Amino acid sequence: MRPEILNPLFGETQSLKGVGKALAKPLEKLRLTRVKDLLYHQPSHWMRRKRVDELDEIDVGETIIVEVTPVDYRSGGPRSPLRVHATDKVGNFISLTYFGRNTGWPKKLLPLGEPKIISGKLERYGDELQMVHPDQVLEPNQVNEIALVEPIYPLSDGLGNTRMRQLIDQTIELAPELPEWIEPSQLATKKWKAWRESAVSLHRVEGEDASERLAYDEIFANQLAFMLVRASNRSKKGVPIRGDGKLRDQLQLPFELTGAQKRCISEIESDLAQAAPMLRLLQGDVGSGKTLVALMALLNAVEAGHQAALLAPTEILARQHFESLQKLLTGMPVNLAILTGRDKGKMRESTLMGLADGSIDILIGTHAIFQEKVQYRNLAVAVIDEQHKFGVSQRLMLTQKAALTPHLLAMTATPIPRTLTLSQYGEMDVSRIDELPPGRQAIETRVISDGRLAEVVDGLERHIAGSGQAYWVCPLVEESEKSDLAAAEERAATLRSRFGDQVGLVHGRMKGPEKDAVMERFQSNQIKILVATTVIEVGVDVPNASLMVIEAADRFGLAQLHQLRGRVGRGSAKSNCLLLRGEALSETARARLTLMRETNDGFRIAEEDLRLRGAGELLGTRQSGEAGFRVASPEQVQEFIGPATDDARLLLDRDGGLDSPRGQAARLALYLFERDWGVSLLRSG
Ligand code: ADP
Ligand code: MG
Repeated sequence: MRPEILNPLFGETQSLKGVGKALAKPLEKLRLTRVKDLLYHQPSHWMRRKRVDELDEIDVGETIIVEVTPVDYRSGGPRSPLRVHATDKVGNFISLTYFGRNTGWPKKLLPLGEPKIISGKLERYGDELQMVHPDQVLEPNQVNEIALVEPIYPLSDGLGNTRMRQLIDQTIELAPELPEWIEPSQLATKKWKAWRESAVSLHRVEGEDASERLAYDEIFANQLAFMLVRASNRSKKGVPIRGDGKLRDQLQLPFELTGAQKRCISEIESDLAQAAPMLRLLQGDVGSGKTLVALMALLNAVEAGHQAALLAPTEILARQHFESLQKLLTGMPVNLAILTGRDKGKMRESTLMGLADGSIDILIGTHAIFQEKVQYRNLAVAVIDEQHKFGVSQRLMLTQKAALTPHLLAMTATPIPRTLTLSQYGEMDVSRIDELPPGRQAIETRVISDGRLAEVVDGLERHIAGSGQAYWVCPLVEESEKSDLAAAEERAATLRSRFGDQVGLVHGRMKGPEKDAVMERFQSNQIKILVATTVIEVGVDVPNASLMVIEAADRFGLAQLHQLRGRVGRGSAKSNCLLLRGEALSETARARLTLMRETNDGFRIAEEDLRLRGAGELLGTRQSGEAGFRVASPEQVQEFIGPATDDARLLLDRDGGLDSPRGQAARLALYLFERDWGVSLLRSG
């Protein structure tokens, strides 16, 4: 249970003074639903105002405070703005410009002949000085009420800066003093202030320091939580597994394992041989051959007389794994089963029985395989494929499933930079497949304006005439799955009008069997062109598909583009990826597409992604719906991950139960940043 002292911080922003229904939406949109969210809402910049007596060209571009007297109203017609002509004390002229149909209120605000104090950005308009929508209009004796430095916050429609400041002032009132969780020497070296003072000065002065400490807190809590998981895992009993190799030796692979695969396999083997359950992350770019590495771990368990499970994020991928493993294991004494949310009735019952009595050796499936009702006889190894699609909590849940904790291998194709690995998978050891199987050709990527769609379709025609297959990925419309679908259906229809039933369509709203049927027809080359929404992003393997068209590629993130592109380049033929882009491109979108054209290297793309994206949007976190970091910027994560990890480790070495006063304070940090899964581990053991 959350300590009481934190309760005010977890109150809803809805219950603050002055928050009516109208503010609910903008607050939600900014993800400011609780008091602490607002307290941590950092100003995006600070507005500095300069007080002047006279208007002067020199100040163009500055935000000024000046006394003026309106002398005239001008409006060129119903569509042009209202211009309030005004003069300063010595007769210099300025036009105060108001856009919008309603000209009544500016006139009321600025009656002719009455001196007013105004504040706003001074601009030049033709030969005149002007100010568009002054942000303050007050009486001359109120001049001191205008702040010379003001925090400007990220805002949303319907929630302006003044209101935002009022709300944040209320949260400051509510913020309690909290005991210190940072190592005293660290605090002293950095000259950081106590928590409350730091939180307050985030809004009071321009304070890098304040935000530094608060960011550090978040990273510290994150690392501490991971380390608690690690410690609790270490203390758990697992089964040491040493298969004799009799199954693995029977595998008939049409190729040699790469050096990187072999290295990762042996790292995993030595983990499995320990009694402490394995917690290992396997990182490897799309197509690097993670499945085989996983299979070796699964077979190892079976050889040793135990069960193993493989969790996939989607139905399609689970079935594909099932089929390809079945093929590889043909004729071998391994009982493979599949279980997804779709399996019902007798089939399901018999699978559940097989798991309970131990007759099933390896279970493959979606999250259904770790639901309450699914009881294993002796599960010893669990593999999570495409871990970045799941959340931390799902990963942790797994380690708590069996009476004996299974060895856990999490795999991800998102090649994230090292600092990020530590901040997202801090409890795990890491193996990297940093080498692709030989003979893979780089995918040639081109960026093409969507005005040239007709040429692209001609190219597609030549491609399938030459017996190739192709993916056509439709735009991602984040707000609505429905419009995603509409776009994909429309594209499929236009392509069908030219290519007939060689075109298939697959999207997230289709029922499982429907989806699989289409995928199967694509895999067996009955369908040549697969129009898809991003459901194909994950893991589907059709080597003959060597062309991919991505529509509105500028709307995708780098990680996603990289994942999508990884669907091609899986066979021996040279592969192409065409990124269609809209006309108006943002700076970042342009940078993303250029990078995609330049490189196939997932780790490089990951580093750049980190650079191009903002805080809270770190790789993969958005897809899984995980919170990630809200306070710390990517730069701060880079800077503090090392010290914060050390700090957390040191604390746990000294006080593993977090019982000391500092340990108790650290528990608060875990709750504050919603890493309380760490605390729950502490209690259970
Ligand atoms: P991913 O890491 O993206 O999950 P997969 O395990 O699906 O990659 O492997 C991609 C393809 O590469 C598969 O067709 C697989 O059979 C093949 N493959 C895996 N290892 C090797 C290897 N050492 N040499 C050649 N091909 C390999
Ligand atoms: Mg895979």
